[in-house]
Amino acid sequence: MPRPLQAVIDMAALASNHAKARALAPRSRVLATIKANGYGHGLLRVERALADADGFAVCEIDQAAALRERARSARGDRLVLLLEGFFSTPDLLVCSREGICPVVHDRAQVEMLEQTRLESPIDVFVKMNSGMNRLGFAPARFGAAVERLRGSSSVRSLTLMTHFAAADEEEGVAAQLEVFETHAAPFGGLRRSLANSAALLRYPQTHADCVRPGIMLYGVSPFADCTAASLGLRAVMSLEAEVIAVQSLSAGDRVGYAGVFRADAPMRVGIVACGYADGYPRHAPTGTPVLVDGRRSRTLGRVSMDMLAVDLTGMPEAGVGTPVVLWGGALPVEEVAAAAGTIAYELLCALAPRVPVREAFPDAPTAPSVAAG
Ligand SMILES: *Cc1c(COP(=O)(O)O)cnc(C)c1O
Repeated sequence: MPRPLQAVIDMAALASNHAKARALAPRSRVLATIKANGYGHGLLRVERALADADGFAVCEIDQAAALRERARSARGDRLVLLLEGFFSTPDLLVCSREGICPVVHDRAQVEMLEQTRLESPIDVFVKMNSGMNRLGFAPARFGAAVERLRGSSSVRSLTLMTHFAAADEEEGVAAQLEVFETHAAPFGGLRRSLANSAALLRYPQTHADCVRPGIMLYGVSPFADCTAASLGLRAVMSLEAEVIAVQSLSAGDRVGYAGVFRADAPMRVGIVACGYADGYPRHAPTGTPVLVDGRRSRTLGRVSMDMLAVDLTGMPEAGVGTPVVLWGGALPVEEVAAAAGTIAYELLCALAPRVPVREAFPDAPTAPSVAAG
């Protein structure tokens, strides 16, 4: 029997969240952001779940090529955006051959484009740094970059792009949006792409021609002050394990490495088959929420590589084999992340390759069980 730990991916929830993005931005193309292995859910698994996607956004060129390859039969027009663009001339040639659309964010990339003969011209997203100071042309240089790309025979189409630093915060998008609109104004005829999940959900004025939702597709709220359920999103990943041992502690007994948890009265502790090598955060302190047999409990002491401890107080029926949910279902991953001092993005992306994945199709009349992909 395998170790009792698995990630369950709700394929119907993925499709439902994608439909939600579409419904909120009905006049925009929806580019599903599936970088970082589909935020830990599996690149091609997410691609399969989103059969009607207009396109996808990733960071690695081999993944972009794989997505274009799969689009060729079904959706030849499916846009695959390479978020950091190409890093070399060979990569640029791959973009041209495979029909991948790169982001162009600096002068070196413009020069590479001008100096390379391509099999066929490419579609480009040209990026403005409207205030995040990560990637993109400075606003004052943006117009010149657009003109140069427009003049290049290697470029078939241009989309103007920027990315928001604080769409999920109180600060919002206003300042960056103004910078973008001011410096993009001379190019009224070109398409635009601005919105991540937070902007898509909260700022319809950012939807433009093409939105780039990521985290919302996975059923996670980008906002600290607002749950995914209240946004109409359905959690996609559950991390599920079982109790594999029970310890009865006396007052004063300690649990796990360094004994950082100490019982102040007799208690029962469940040892669960999930640790930081599975992607559970090691920095989750005592008290991080878990579901034991569907009921809320808490972790105790340090998370080990392969195991962690949970409180079985008040659960006399719990024992070896009792199911434990680390996140998912009634326990939003956002809550676990907050308890561990991080964000849900990081927990989802960190799901380890050693954790088996099961795909669930709860909305289907019969639920086929499908192996990893
Ligand atoms: C990751 C990313 C997104 C998606 O962001 P979410 O917050 O997950 O919606 C969109 N655009 C760019 C440029 C990104 O890097």
